[in-house]
Amino acid sequence: MKTIGVIGGMSWESSAEYYRLLNRYAKARLGGHHNARSLMVTVDFATIEADQRADDWDSLGRQMADAARQLEQGGADIVMLATNTMHRVCESIEQTIHVPFLHIADPTGAALRRAGIERVGLLGTRYTMEQTFYVGRLRERYGLDTVIPDEQGRADVHRIIYDELCHGTIDAHSRATYQRVIEYLAARGAQAVILGCTEITLLIKPEDSALPVFDTTALHAQAAVDWAISEDTL
Ligand code: GLU
Repeated sequence: MKTIGVIGGMSWESSAEYYRLLNRYAKARLGGHHNARSLMVTVDFATIEADQRADDWDSLGRQMADAARQLEQGGADIVMLATNTMHRVCESIEQTIHVPFLHIADPTGAALRRAGIERVGLLGTRYTMEQTFYVGRLRERYGLDTVIPDEQGRADVHRIIYDELCHGTIDAHSRATYQRVIEYLAARGAQAVILGCTEITLLIKPEDSALPVFDTTALHAQAAVDWAISEDTL
């Protein structure tokens, strides 16, 4: 089994979920006492969040490259970044390491295509919803047409991520807010919704959503385990 390297801490609430899922999927695939072989570098989210607000993506790129280098030097055979937003700077990682980088949008885009989805709603931070790095990849590589919430919806989704979910706060009113936003996306023709922030899965389960849910945390973790095991001779 290969070793999965995870850049975590953005936030640690979702990194903990990644850790659980990586091990759970490996056990489901291999049985017995198996779990995933992994390494995690946890960055300090206070620095990251401040640099995001300051629009200092160069600094963020350097920090992600440093974390990826640490993982590679520690023996990781693949690197994954446990946040959608920070994929804005994934080129900095890819240029730094020699092992493969598993982009979070790829298993998500592939799963949507397999399900026959053409138009999909996207929930995430403002950076993920409004900038081109994520939506562009989904369109160019998977032919997906993406719908995002209106201004008020984007503000609510973003605020709940940073003020609540990244602090481990799960609130029923916020769940209802997300449900209304998902209904808006459905009314705009979305056939499914991407939980495009790795904490949203803590708040929204498939049964909470009017649309089929594509959870980036789960899809990313599963793809990493599939890779780690498929390369093996087990
Ligand atoms: N975990 C989140 C994401 O998937 C947001 C936190 C961050 O800014 O990295 O986008």
